[in-house]
Amino acid sequence: MKIQVVTLEREPVYVDSSIPAAELSFEQVDALLKDAVDVTATVSKQDDQVRVAGQLKTSITFVCNRCLKEFRQPLNRAFDLTYLPVALLRRQEDEVEVSYQNLDIGFFDGVELDLNVLLVEQIMLSLPMKPVCQAGCKGLCPVCGIDLNARACECRSLPGDPRRAPLAALREKLKKH
Ligand SMILES: [Zn+2]
Ligand SMILES: [Zn+2]
Repeated sequence: MKIQVVTLEREPVYVDSSIPAAELSFEQVDALLKDAVDVTATVSKQDDQVRVAGQLKTSITFVCNRCLKEFRQPLNRAFDLTYLPVALLRRQEDEVEVSYQNLDIGFFDGVELDLNVLLVEQIMLSLPMKPVCQAGCKGLCPVCGIDLNARACECRSLPGDPRRAPLAALREKLKKH
């Protein structure tokens, strides 16, 4: 969804729509966007600045970093962002860098603002570093690969680091010969 800046000259634009996941280029290894993103926002312009304030609502399908199971989590995020035409940045590079350093400032071509890009960025900002299905997820056995949340395996009962179990078993075998 693109907002033409020229239409903002007259009055703010109110956005209330549901954007299908297929229209958003969201690609992550451990987080998938399968649901539509609902967005409500007010887009307004003052001088050179375009302000986009509102919120998004969707759910993210994560792949657990320990057991690789998929799980879904709702996502709600409010945002209040200011966009400046990139030409302004070129004009007064140093000043802009200093004065806008700590604000939610973005740059755009000055002609149109792509709300889809904004939404993807906001979703990215709210993703956890390593999603896990539950705090106590036991993950997969590094030796046999079974889901340790579902059942225990023999590998665990061997002494020492389970990742060395196959090596230990091999040593035992060699000793017998
Ligand atoms: Zn898990
Ligand atoms: Zn195992």
